[in-house]
Amino acid sequence: MAVRAAGQIAGICHLYRSSSLGGFRTLSQNVSSSKHTPSNAPETTVDHLIYTPEHFALKESIKKIIDQEINPHVDQWEAEGKFPAHRIFKILGNAGILGVNKPVEYGGLGLDFSYSVAVSEELGNIRCGGIPMAIGVQTDMATPALARFGSHELKTEFLLPSILGDKVACLGVSEVGAGSDVSSIMTKAVRQGDEYVINGGKMWTTNGTQADWMCLLANTSDGPPHRNKSLICLPMDLPGVHIARQIDKMGMRSSDTAEVFFDDVRVPSKNVIGKEGMGFTYQMLQFQEERLWAVANTLTTMDIVIQETIDYTRQRKIFKMPVLHHQTVHFRLAELQTEVELLRSLLHRATALFIKGNDVTKLASMAKLKAGRLARELGDSCLQYWGGMGFTNDVLVSRFYRDSRLISIGGGADEVMLGIICKYMDTLPK
Ligand SMILES: Cc1cc2nc3c(=O)[nH]c(=O)nc-3n(C[C@H](O)[C@H](O)[C@H](O)COP(=O)(O)OP(=O)(O)OC[C@H]3O[C@@H](n4cnc5c(N)ncnc54)[C@H](O)[C@@H]3O)c2cc1C
Repeated sequence: MAVRAAGQIAGICHLYRSSSLGGFRTLSQNVSSSKHTPSNAPETTVDHLIYTPEHFALKESIKKIIDQEINPHVDQWEAEGKFPAHRIFKILGNAGILGVNKPVEYGGLGLDFSYSVAVSEELGNIRCGGIPMAIGVQTDMATPALARFGSHELKTEFLLPSILGDKVACLGVSEVGAGSDVSSIMTKAVRQGDEYVINGGKMWTTNGTQADWMCLLANTSDGPPHRNKSLICLPMDLPGVHIARQIDKMGMRSSDTAEVFFDDVRVPSKNVIGKEGMGFTYQMLQFQEERLWAVANTLTTMDIVIQETIDYTRQRKIFKMPVLHHQTVHFRLAELQTEVELLRSLLHRATALFIKGNDVTKLASMAKLKAGRLARELGDSCLQYWGGMGFTNDVLVSRFYRDSRLISIGGGADEVMLGIICKYMDTLPK
């Protein structure tokens, strides 16, 4: 049954891969039979600002995979502290979902970034934050710079199998002593002939215990901090790569997070992405996609948490009437849904500008800041209305409360976003 469904999904995506306007009707028919759009979602297939029927068809195919291959196992993977990345990525890779905006030559669908945002929004239907985050690392955090600046040889070796779901990627930027201040990383890659010798370590590496390769940020010279770094494709099975431990976390539990050490790891110098010394700049560019992706991913889950809170409070009676009928409750939920829609509008505006080639660093930073803050507010308010049930591990709202706390910290903390916004407003003291 699952195999046949996966085949159908691959069929949709195959149609989708080859579709210009020729495949439009079939796809829109497929879309119009969709039943999963939450009742409070404003999206329609006919008049969406950035999504076409093709976007909705793609979302539909992802939803099927989530329902059949992922959601039934989430509780188990959360309990185990890890999900089987190779197995799940292969399913997603077969359906074309791991490279929607990557070049066709390397297994991608060759579409624009709005499709990646659509994928991310849809992945918000997964009933935890850890698995979407792991997928996002593969598609929009570890691979954008490689796709944009990498050599043909590197793309063939690392990008193609990552898009097909044959290799799991991770991103090695943060270190024990350097998170918010990326420029202060200490990991060194010293050139010796045709190789780099790498020493140092990375902290908080998502997918780190399962990854086949790392997009590593390392210092390749002693120059100024913004000009001395390079991004390097590092196979994780090289001698000298040590997975020190899997970090025990309060949330995102099904996503494995590793601390990694490098002890005289030798990697060919051709594994540098683009130009040596440009790693910091490439990473900053890569952050735009990462942040927009993170915002998109949290929106759907926020819709679901609000809807489940409505459903629960409608049937739960206190003082002879449903919890929902207390004005403070339904007014608060209306306020939160309004905030979600505002954030969605900002995301779609930033996405529309990004795919036209604009620098959207300011809008992406604002959206990421707002997503982190809103998720904290929304998780807290909704959990409250579930009473004791909200304090159990049986409901999505408590998992969301824990998982979404990361948004204000990871991929640039709220204060880092504020600093970037201030730079654009020209209010940051020099
Ligand atoms: C679950 C998880 C997964 C992660 N996955 C990855 C990954 O795959 N790859 C990767 O490279 N990294 C990853 N990270 C790391 C993440 O990006 C960092 O945690 C984040 O950048 C913050 O760095 P830090 O933890 O070192 O905090 P620090 O840099 O020590 O900052 C601590 C706090 O200082 C405050 N702060 C920061 N800047 C300012 C400022 N200018 N003014 C005032 N206050 C400020 C913020 O509140 C911040 O939270 C992950 C982290 C977690 C927890």
